[in-house]
Formats: sequence, structure tokens, C-alpha cells
Amino acid sequence: MTESVVLCGSVFHSDSGVLGGRTEILVRDGVIAELGPRLTRPDGAEVLDLSEHTVSPGFIDTHVHLTMDAANLARQTLGSTATKALTGLSIAAEYLQHGFTTLRDLGCMDPEFPTVDLRNAIDAGTVAGPRLIVAAHILSATAGHGDLSGFYPSRWDLAVSAVSDSIGQIRQLVRREHAHGSDWIKTANAGGYFSVGDDPARGTWFDDEFEALCATAAQLGMPVAVHTGGADACKQAIRAGARSLEHAYLIDEEGVEMATQAGTFVVPTMQMTQEDLAQLRQGTLPEQAVWKFERDHEQILRSQRIIAASAVKIAYGTDCGMFPFDHGILEFQAMVQAGVTPVRALQAATSVAAELLQRDDLGVLKPGAAADLVAMPRNPLEDITATAEVDFVMRGGLVHRGPA
Ligand SMILES: [Zn+2]
Repeated sequence: MTESVVLCGSVFHSDSGVLGGRTEILVRDGVIAELGPRLTRPDGAEVLDLSEHTVSPGFIDTHVHLTMDAANLARQTLGSTATKALTGLSIAAEYLQHGFTTLRDLGCMDPEFPTVDLRNAIDAGTVAGPRLIVAAHILSATAGHGDLSGFYPSRWDLAVSAVSDSIGQIRQLVRREHAHGSDWIKTANAGGYFSVGDDPARGTWFDDEFEALCATAAQLGMPVAVHTGGADACKQAIRAGARSLEHAYLIDEEGVEMATQAGTFVVPTMQMTQEDLAQLRQGTLPEQAVWKFERDHEQILRSQRIIAASAVKIAYGTDCGMFPFDHGILEFQAMVQAGVTPVRALQAATSVAAELLQRDDLGVLKPGAAADLVAMPRNPLEDITATAEVDFVMRGGLVHRGPA
């Protein structure tokens, strides 16, 4: 049995959104055993002094791509499966240092299942890293967002795209993900900005195709995350029972209201829009993205403000991999800039993200929850930029950073 007592200056109670005062947390074998203003400290327990810090449940990024590198997508995608798993491991371990104790990876761009292997190795304790929840591949229609064939010379035929255009084959793709250990199904029902030959404003699945995908996933007990864009595609995803809308770039008021009523989560990836805007200004946005992003960027920012002004469940997700992981922590600031309150932004990365992932042992400080803790010297509810100053990270009771 290993025990430690964490002395907290203040604690963020993610479920209520309240910042509590001095608190002691007893951690036993990776789990929060007890918390209160003053605990009896067991003999031999390590004491971690964070009495000058604000402590929060570990952050959860619900949209990453550990095995993708948008800065060199062709070379990265063509690398071996083992290379992807190993580079993904080093990226995940580094991202943990920023406070992200749980990640949902939404697509590996590989014929095999390197993110499933990585998840299993971390779970087994073979390697150290954040907890992973995985959707291995992006299931897509031909010429949809998950069809990478437009990126590469025509003679190159490595099966990195999981593509189909018939209902029976769509079911097979979903079942294959399940058979190989994916936790979630990821699909795209609209085009994207960086992908070649598609358009985020247009849908790519017909209703019967998309409904077959969702019904097959539901039969297998797998939730569905949908890369989506145009307002109509967002509504198709909500109607079919998707659990999360990824990006929802061009969602309108009606779509946000539908998502609110249905309890559908939105992962609005707002920092990515800031990254793309910077690239557009610098002239470094990839050619295939320029016309789409020039046309849409004002509407994307409008849609983000509609999301922020609504009561919809917003979960923290970045799409890191499409931009550098060391900017992932800036999603907090992008959310607040769009009108999300600091409390709601922190809940998006803790309690709401955990609810999206159907994990009541994560994202909250309570007895029985995983001892995933982060700490920062300042109060993030007063100034959200404090989240970029995390200098203590505990994941499952193990200290990965600090105390400073
Ligand atoms: Zn993505």
C-alpha cells in the first residue's frame, strides 16, 4: 500500500464549480481515499506541500491525434506503425507534463492500431503516460475527411484510410474497430479544412449510411464522435445519436439548441481556429485549406460565440497533432476569449469531459476517484492564463511533475 497526503492551498470542485479553501487529500494506491480541511495523516505517508497552489482534477483533452503531425503529414502518415506508437508515447508523456492526465485519441492514420497498443501499454504500466481512450480510425465515405488518398501519389495505396460507401461495409468497419479494441467510433460526416478534395460546409454521409454506422456502434456499446462542420451535418449527427460533435465549425443557433436538448456534447476546438488564423495571416496555411478557411473563418468564430452563449455541454478538446501539443493548454484561453466563463472552461476539461467519456472516476475530487491532480501557483478562475502555469501533475497517485 502506498499513501500520500496532498496539502492544497485551494481546490477546484469541478462538479459545483466552486473554489474551496485549504484542503488535504489522502491518496491511497492511486485513488483518492479521503479529503477534508484536516486529515489524520497515516504513518509513513508522503506529504506533498501545495499549500501555495490551486489544485484541480487532472485535465482531460478529449480530441488529440498522438500519431499525427500536420506539419509533415505525408512523412508522418507513411511512417511505420511502431514509429507512430513510439513517437506517440513520447508526445503523450510530454503532454502529461502540461497537466493532461487523460486523453481521447480520435484517429491514428495507420493501417494498424498503434494508439490501441499505446493505451494497453500505459494501462499495463509497461510505459508511463496519460490514460488513453481511443478511437483508432476515422471512418469515412470515399472523398470524405478521413479519405487520405488525395494527399499522396496515385500509386501509393497503403490502407491508412478507413473508407466505405455501402451500408454492409460501414457496419464491417465499425465492427473491425470494436474487434481490435477501439473504445469509441470516430467518423466524419462533413469535409475538413486540411483534407484534400472535400468541403467542411458539405455533408459526406447520407442519412441511411450514417444511421447504420451509429446503430452498429450502439449495438456494440460504443459511443460515436463525429468530426462535423456544416449546420446540416451537425444536425444529422445529433439526430442519429452521436455522443460528441467534434469542431461543429459552422453550427447555427438551431443546431446548438438541438444539441442542448439532446444532451449531445460539443468539442469546439477553438484554439485550432486561432492556429489556422495565424497560419492564414502568415501565408503558411496549406494550399488545400486556404479557400475553405478564408470563406469560413468569420462564421466559425460566430458559431463558437453561439456555443459559448448557450447551455450546451462543452468538452475540452484541441485536435493537437494538427498543431503542436505545447499549444494544447491554450484551449482554455481560446474558450474564454469566445465567451466561455473560466469556471465552465475548467469544467469542460474536468467534470464535463469525464461525463462525455462516461467515466465517473475521472475529472472530480472525491473519495473513490482516480488520484489525478494538477496544481498551479495562481487562481485560474480569476485569470484563466494560470492554467498555462501547471507545475505539479499527479496521475493515478504517481507524481509526474513537481511539486515546484
Ligand atoms: Zn481531429
